[in-house]
Amino acid sequence: MSEKKVLIIEDEEDILALIHYNLTKEGFNVICASSGEEGLKMVAEEKPELILLDLMLPGMNGVDICRSLQKEPEFCEIPIIMVTAKGEESDIVAGLELGADDYITKPFSPKILVARAKAALRHPRKGAPAISDDSVIKAQELVIHPGKKEVLVGNQPINLTFTEFHVLHFLARRPGWVFTRYQIVNAVRGEDYSVTDRAVDVQIVGLRKKLGPYGKYIETVRGVGYRFKD
Ligand code: CA
Repeated sequence: MSEKKVLIIEDEEDILALIHYNLTKEGFNVICASSGEEGLKMVAEEKPELILLDLMLPGMNGVDICRSLQKEPEFCEIPIIMVTAKGEESDIVAGLELGADDYITKPFSPKILVARAKAALRHPRKGAPAISDDSVIKAQELVIHPGKKEVLVGNQPINLTFTEFHVLHFLARRPGWVFTRYQIVNAVRGEDYSVTDRAVDVQIVGLRKKLGPYGKYIETVRGVGYRFKD
């Protein structure tokens, strides 16, 4: 396996050292920047395959960096994992909506960090198959047949509305990834459909009820959105 180049943008030296140590140990080629401006410069010069991005940076912050990378066709598909502190939920939401792929909250376990980094490289959110992807999804007794628009729990069909089906399929296609309400609305109905956050919550409540014991597979991520249990 060739060494994957990972850029860490982080101003706290101890966290930078911790991430650097653990990723290097796993065989990644790790490069570092301690400010947003330096980070952007390194993206252009080094073309990393993954970016670990601290949100609270002096000067240009993490959300600004997501916004700036999203505008560049050359860089907008590089996966980004935000490294965040507790209480930064609104910045996490902004970052996810500006093209970040995932986030990890400090303090984090090095094992989880490495697993997330590998997952982001293996299953990038960007360039993902379209919602019409027909692969059957299984989570124990829960089976989603996108082609037939059918959901089974223990071989019993579950009667979902069109929107409920698409919300479930959208989340289940990426187990473990968190999506904001805005992203769910966009994925399910297209960008110009004006649905409120509250409408997504209503869909989720209905879905959970109909899925019975499998309702718990749709997890609420407080302040951020929803994800399908990994
Ligand atoms: Ca910081």
